[in-house]
Amino acid sequence: MTDAQARLLLGAPVAAEIRASVRDDIAAFVARRGYAPTLAIVLVGRDAPSAVYLRQILKACEMAGIGGRLVEIESGGTSRTDPDLEARVTAAIEALNDDPFVAGIIVQMPLPPSVRLRTIIDTIDPAKDIDGIHPLNAGLLRLGYEGFLPATAHAAIEMLHRYDVPIAGREAVVVGRSNVVGMPAAFMLVREHATVTVCHSKTVDLAAHVRRAEILVVAAGRPGLITGSMLRPGAVVVDVGINVVGDAIVGDVDMDSARSVAGAITPVPGGVGPVTNAILLTHLVRAAVAQADGAPA
Ligand code: NAD
Repeated sequence: MTDAQARLLLGAPVAAEIRASVRDDIAAFVARRGYAPTLAIVLVGRDAPSAVYLRQILKACEMAGIGGRLVEIESGGTSRTDPDLEARVTAAIEALNDDPFVAGIIVQMPLPPSVRLRTIIDTIDPAKDIDGIHPLNAGLLRLGYEGFLPATAHAAIEMLHRYDVPIAGREAVVVGRSNVVGMPAAFMLVREHATVTVCHSKTVDLAAHVRRAEILVVAAGRPGLITGSMLRPGAVVVDVGINVVGDAIVGDVDMDSARSVAGAITPVPGGVGPVTNAILLTHLVRAAVAQADGAPA
């Protein structure tokens, strides 16, 4: 181990660059088509933590010239007292599917227990599914075709691109196998010719896998899961985790110990997080143009 400290891969400059190009794209869209496309967010029930996140997306929309619409569906309580909640959510999504000014739809997760996730994701028009949760978009990614990628996974890989980290031929390890982050990040890395290992909660000897990684993407939601002693010296570490510990927000990687071993690392907060919203807006632009042209996105 040396005194050298890993390079910090910051999200803010990347997000600013992406947002500036989105603003230009939206200005061109408005000039050509005469209206601004809208991003709709469906929020089911009230949830304080997601309110902060939603405000950030709506503000990012406003600054980019995109219409932001929050569709709030009040939950009357439990599934027993509010049996038609799921039907109201699907009806709201269908109305957004049919609205020509709405180019993209995201549904805030998690949903209340009485609303089936599968029913909701199947209802979203895949052409408006800018966070890549519909099975069609997941399938397109799996088969190597262009579809909408989940924004967080896309942001994690975009950090590697923007900081010129070579991917082809390298050993990549992804910790986490969720449909929204781990698996799509792994498929993207495979598509870019990395050799990829996916680790998860049942992985035996996580450290042995992590130690092989030249590129490590961590999305487990476990603060401090990855420490410096587990890393291959010089590894590029993308920490997607967002965990609230006391008053602080921390990632899944123990920054103090990792910084003296890794070659580069995304901090939390300030790494992948800010890029995720900016990436989502690029998906919105793509969706809007494709819908206006009557072409697949
Ligand atoms: P999830 O709970 O759906 O999945 C977590 C994954 O981690 C699972 O596949 C599980 O098998 C794996 N895992 C859990 N404990 C493990 C362990 N001890 N060892 C190895 N693997 C383990 O979570 P998610 O939705 O994929 O989110 C992951 C993290 O990313 C969370 O901290 C979440 O807050 C964060 N997140 C960040 C953004 C962003 O914009 N940066 C967006 C979404 C999620």
